[in-house]
Amino acid sequence: MSSDYYGTSAAYARKEAGYREKALKIYPWVCGRCSREFVYSNLRELTVHHVDHDHTNNPEDGSNWELLCLFCHDHEHEKYTEAENGQSSLIRAGEDDHQAATFNPFADLKAMMEKGKK
Ligand SMILES: [Zn+2]
Ligand SMILES: [Zn+2]
Repeated sequence: MSSDYYGTSAAYARKEAGYREKALKIYPWVCGRCSREFVYSNLRELTVHHVDHDHTNNPEDGSNWELLCLFCHDHEHEKYTEAENGQSSLIRAGEDDHQAATFNPFADLKAMMEKGKK
C-alpha cells in the first residue's frame, strides 16, 4: 500500500459524504470483513463499499452499503478486478466508490428526499 488511494481525493471526499454519513448512522463502526472496530479518531479508515459496485445505487435502508476498512475494501476491489480481467473493458476496479467523476451528492439526496415524501 503506497499513498492514500482512497482518502486524499477531494472529489472522492465530496462524493462520498452523502451516503457515508448515512451508512455510518445505520451500521455499527465495524469492518464487515475483518471485524476491526472503529472510533471517531480512526473513522476515516472505515470506508463505504457498494455491494453491487454501483455507486449510484444508494437505497435509504443501506442494503447496498457495506462498511469496510481500507485494507478489506482494497481487497474487495482486487477480487473484482481479477474476476473481470480480460472479460470486460467496461468494468474496472474503483468504479463504485473512488472514481473521479462529476457526481453531485445533492442531486441524489434531493431525489431521495422527494421519494420519501410520497
Ligand atoms: Zn477490514
Ligand atoms: Zn468499493
